[in-house]
Amino acid sequence: MKKSIVTLKPQYMNEFQCIGNACSDTCCSGWKVNIDKQTYKKYKKIKDREVATKVANYIKKENTLSTDNVASIQTNEGACVFLHDGLCEIQLKYGEEYLSKTCLTYPRVFNVVDQQVELSANMSCPETARLALLNQELMQFDVAEEILDVRHIIKQKIETKQSVWNSCFWEIRTFTIEILQNRSYSVSDRLIFLGLFCRKLASISSSENRSQIVNVVTEFRMRLDSSDTVKEISKLPQAYHVQLSIFKEILQTQTNIHHNRLRNYNNEALQAFDFESSDKDAIQSKYIKGCNEYYVPFINEHSYILENYLVNQVFHRLFLFNEGSNILEEYLRLTILFSTVRFYLQGVAVFEKKMTPEKAVDIIQSFSKSIEHSSSYLSLLSSKIMNTNVDKWTFLITLLKQ
Ligand code: SF4
Repeated sequence: MKKSIVTLKPQYMNEFQCIGNACSDTCCSGWKVNIDKQTYKKYKKIKDREVATKVANYIKKENTLSTDNVASIQTNEGACVFLHDGLCEIQLKYGEEYLSKTCLTYPRVFNVVDQQVELSANMSCPETARLALLNQELMQFDVAEEILDVRHIIKQKIETKQSVWNSCFWEIRTFTIEILQNRSYSVSDRLIFLGLFCRKLASISSSENRSQIVNVVTEFRMRLDSSDTVKEISKLPQAYHVQLSIFKEILQTQTNIHHNRLRNYNNEALQAFDFESSDKDAIQSKYIKGCNEYYVPFINEHSYILENYLVNQVFHRLFLFNEGSNILEEYLRLTILFSTVRFYLQGVAVFEKKMTPEKAVDIIQSFSKSIEHSSSYLSLLSSKIMNTNVDKWTFLITLLKQ
């Protein structure tokens, strides 16, 4: 059933339309596709012999209480069994109403803040990645009526009246986006400044004092515009050897990447800096020289790509208000995603001796498809950082500073 719903969304969603078999990827290859209860019942009643056999052989019941996830489609060599030439057999034969909630929703992400529906998208879809990341202007948001299927999955709901912390949602979200879109800083430095802001928030977030939290926003807004902050961040030490040793290990452990394009990028990044060599100083010199030649000029001209990636993350994740994770964990996740994407861009730029906006989008899309959704990757790097003996906030800034 479809309904007209007032929705807050980034403007790139106004243009989004699935491009079907012209797509360079698919919605579902490499992923386990969840089937909700209603859809499972419909599939069990399908009479078509070919489809019914696949349902019997490839859709397995899950042992879960969630009605959105009563079964899942087992993939065949990484691809959904219903996918043919980039098109979904179920949708072609039975229409959209036979898609599971997961398939119907992807690549969209729906949240609800108070009564307001928010719509954005994952960057694992080539078309949303292209529309969102290649926009050179600041990412803007619209409120507009949208005809939506009521079966879409709502990822998160928050009530701003639920707690003192939640009551500061809009002040914190608006300022976070303001930081990330402040083009007088490099994108890495914006993320460092966001870390300083988050660290301060973490120290007072449990206070039941709304004005104390709002005062932090006001204080940091003034600091953002101060030339002293630019100097303060520029004086932070660069620790390339730490960054390189972490990413060397990460790239070397990513041996079972199923996504072909990301696997190639991973190999290129590994070869770009001679990681096989035991001479750490030589690796570092090669990294700095290569980045200065092929990455820095590119990103100075096209920093909007990384900016848009971060703003989209913050919006669709309800950053700092995500259920089940605290402020440090949220900032940690954002930092890991950003620094890994940056490292892939650097590695490929140096290996191929060039970088283009389209290639950068392709890297981010394949990274999002393969790794961003992988809890094992994020938890590997998170636990590495959480297990260091140094202050976590300082360590994260070390990972970012260039
Ligand atoms: S990944 Fe995006 S463009 Fe490609 S088939 Fe899925 S929704 Fe369509």
